[in-house]
Order: sequence, then C-alpha cells, then structure tokens
Amino acid sequence: MNKPLILVVEDDSSVRNLIAATLKANEYNFITAASGKEGASQAATRSPDIILLDLGLPDMDGVEVIKQVRGWAITPIIVISARSDDTDKIAALDAGADDYLTKPFSVEELLARIRATQRRLAYSNNASSSSVFENGGLKIDYAAGCVFLDGEELHLTSIEYKLLCLLAQNVGKVLTHKFITQNVWGSCWDNDIASLRVFMATLRKKLESADSEKQYIQTHIGVGYRMVRL
Ligand code: CA
Repeated sequence: MNKPLILVVEDDSSVRNLIAATLKANEYNFITAASGKEGASQAATRSPDIILLDLGLPDMDGVEVIKQVRGWAITPIIVISARSDDTDKIAALDAGADDYLTKPFSVEELLARIRATQRRLAYSNNASSSSVFENGGLKIDYAAGCVFLDGEELHLTSIEYKLLCLLAQNVGKVLTHKFITQNVWGSCWDNDIASLRVFMATLRKKLESADSEKQYIQTHIGVGYRMVRL
C-alpha cells in the first residue's frame, strides 16, 4: 500500500510535533498547519490523502474547516479533539468528518486510525460499482436484496436491511444517530433515536448470534454506530 500524504492541522506545537515524529518514524509523508485558515489552504493546494484535524483552533472552529473542505473534496478527515463533549464530535461527524480521536491518545491508536482509513480508501476505490458487498462472513446482494452470514441467509426486517446497507455503504466510518435516522426514517426526533437503538440491538443480535467472535457493528455511546471492516 502506498504511503499517503497526511495533512496535520493542529495549533498546539507539542501535539503537532508528537504527531509529526510518529508519522516520520512510520515513513508517512506529511505536511502541517498551525491554524484553520492555513489548514484549509493546504488542503486545497496540496491535495492530501488524509487530514488529521484538531477541532479547537485559534482562528476558526475545526467544524468550519470540515465544511470548507467538504465544499470541494471527499478527503477522509480524522478529527482530533481534546473536548470530551460528544456534541463537538457529533457536529464534526455531521459536517463530514470520517472518524475521531479524543486527546490524550496513544501513538498506536493514531496509527491504527490511519491504517483503517487507508484500508477504507483502498476498498472504496475498488468497490464503488459492485452490486455485492462482502465483509468477513457477511455478504449483501443488493440486486437480490438478500443478506448472507457465513453462507446462511439472514432474515431481516426491511428497516434492519436498510440500516445494514447504510452501515455497509459507509463501512469504517462512524455514522451519527442523526445521519442514520435521517437516512432511514427521513427525520430525527428523539423517538427515532430510541427506535434506532431497538432496531440496532436486534440487527446486532442477528449478526452476532452465529459467531460471537466477530463484531460487525461498533456502538459509539452518545454518538452513533460504525460497521467495522473485518
Ligand atoms: Ca487546539
């Protein structure tokens, strides 16, 4: 796999230096920016493959940077946030971020997120026109509307099927409750989020009953769900 060019947008020089040293030690190509304005401009002129973006920037909110970048590019954005407040992560994900890391994070965690993003990029470059989705023992035949788990057909309700397809189409990406309910029900009331929890619980039970070792869907408490690429 080619090493991607990573743009690091972080105003705190100690964190920026730590990330830079980690990327360098792992032979990644990278560029850095210390403000939101500089980050957005580097994103436009250097076309990075992945953006690591701090949310708390001196000149503008990181969420604004995401909105600007999303105006012209689908570059994966991993948000780095010191804030433990879920609303910031949710705002970033809803604005188009792909994943998040909460400070303090370990170097291993950072590298794991970058590798997961690289795998997702490689996958989406190959699979965009495919009518069959496969992940571990899970197979979705979109044309037939059938789902198989370890070769056995799974019987899903229409809402469970819609949820599974939405997660599969965004495999590797954290989807917020709001994003999911808007796509499945077309609305986002508190009742929809309560229903989502129930449907997700039954879907997970069906997916994980056959082989409890494999966990296809991760819960991000207070934020949303992600299908893991196995
Ligand atoms: Ca900061």
